[in-house]
Amino acid sequence: MRQGISDTNETVELLRSRNITPTAPRLKLARLLCGQPQHLTAEEIYRRLNQNGTKISRASVYNNLHLFVKVGLLRTLNINPALTIYDTNLEPHHHLVDAQTGEIFDIPPDTTIPQNDQEFRFRNQTYQIESLQTMLIGRKI
Ligand SMILES: [Zn+2]
Repeated sequence: MRQGISDTNETVELLRSRNITPTAPRLKLARLLCGQPQHLTAEEIYRRLNQNGTKISRASVYNNLHLFVKVGLLRTLNINPALTIYDTNLEPHHHLVDAQTGEIFDIPPDTTIPQNDQEFRFRNQTYQIESLQTMLIGRKI
């Protein structure tokens, strides 16, 4: 999702540009997700929206997340088959998952990716890489 969209008019335009009717729940969801690159589960998104005093049903959150993915405003990560993670960063990038905390970090696309068992320096931390998943998605030309 584009960065820094907090203005309501811009959010309305963003939804309209994807042929989504900008209802109040959709605008609140879009504003929550547009602020910064985030990796969140549907349940985390539901809780954050309701913590902010917004009353949005769980079903509405799930339905609109599916809609946002369908129109390309969000993408999903399947790091854990039992848990869909919604990624707000639509730019090409890699991910580093902290094996201890489960935290997910965006890694710039031009980063040299280490092999299994190698060390990887990121944000003043050294990670011992335990597993590596790379997925290239392409179209025949
Ligand atoms: Zn990401």
